[in-house]
Amino acid sequence: MAERIPEAIQKKLSERLHFYEDLGVRLFYKQRGDLQVQSAATPATESFAEPASQQIPYEEAALPKSIRKPELPKALQAALRTAPAQSAPPQAARKPDVLPVSAGPSLFESFDKVPDDTLLKIRTDLGECTRCKLHKTRNKIVFGDGNPKAELVFVGEGPGHDEDMQGLPFVGRAGKLLTQMIEAMGLQRKDVYICNVVKCRPPENRAPEKDEVGECSPFLLRQIDAIAPKVIVCLGSTAAQTVLETNRGISQFRGQWLEFRGRKLMATYHPAYLLRNPSAKSEVWKDLQKVMAVLGLEPKKGKSAEAGKSS
Ligand code: URA
Repeated sequence: MAERIPEAIQKKLSERLHFYEDLGVRLFYKQRGDLQVQSAATPATESFAEPASQQIPYEEAALPKSIRKPELPKALQAALRTAPAQSAPPQAARKPDVLPVSAGPSLFESFDKVPDDTLLKIRTDLGECTRCKLHKTRNKIVFGDGNPKAELVFVGEGPGHDEDMQGLPFVGRAGKLLTQMIEAMGLQRKDVYICNVVKCRPPENRAPEKDEVGECSPFLLRQIDAIAPKVIVCLGSTAAQTVLETNRGISQFRGQWLEFRGRKLMATYHPAYLLRNPSAKSEVWKDLQKVMAVLGLEPKKGKSAEAGKSS
C-alpha cells in the first residue's frame, strides 16, 4: 500500500511540479507518465574538442546486469499518483526565457537519498545500461573514478573517445589538463572523485541530449549523495546546467558559491574549453583557489603558477 500523503501536501507538490513544468524543467518528468515538457535550454556555450588518443590500460570490473530504473522516493511516487489533475496556466504567461540558477529547492533537492547507497550499488543498478540511445554506440560505460569518500567531486559532461575506450573519465587531453589542475590544488587524482553527467560517449562528441541526460542524471545524483563530498565542482555548462537545473550560461554563475543538496557547489569552465581558450585558465584557477580555501588546501609549489598561466 502506498503511503497516504496529506491533501495539502499533495496539492503543494502538484503545484510545484506544474510550476517546474511551466518553466521548462524536464528532468525526471519522464517518470510522470506521458507528460512531455519542452525544454527552454539554451545552446551550450562550449563545444568540446576531441581529446587526443592516449592509451592507459584499464579493465572494467565485471558487474551484474540490471535494467532497473532508479526509483523515486515512495512518498513522491504516491503523491504523483494521487495528485489532483490541474489545468496548467497558459505557457506564454509564465514561461521565462532563462531559468534561474537558484529558485528555491529544486526537484533534485526534494528527492530522498537512497538509504545506505554505495557506488557499487549504483554501478550495479546502472548495469549494462540500455536506457538511452547512447548505449548503441558506446564502447565502455564510464561510471566514474576516484576516492569513494572524496571531499571533492568533479562532474564533467560525458566521455570522449579516450574515455570510451578505457572506461575511465577524463583520460584524454582535457583529462590531462584536469589532472594538472588537481595537482596544482595539492591533490592527486586518487584523492578526488571524477564523473560525468552521462556515462556513455555521445557520438562525435556532441553534447548529450535531453532524454540522455534525463535517464543518466539520477545516477549522478546518487553518486554525489553516496560520496557526500564537501564540494562539487561542475566542469562546463552541461554539468552545471544539469545539476543546477538551469539554462543560464555558465559565465553568469561561474566562480560563485552555490548550494546543492546541502553541499557547496562551484561551476567553472571545462578543461576542454581551456584547451581552446587558454586565457580562461586564470579564471578557473581563481575558482579552484576558492575551493582550496574551503578544503583547507595549500597549492603545490610551482604547479599553481603553471595551471594558472594563460598558455
Ligand atoms: N570531457 C568530459 O566531460 N568528460 C570526460 O570524461 C572527458 C572529457
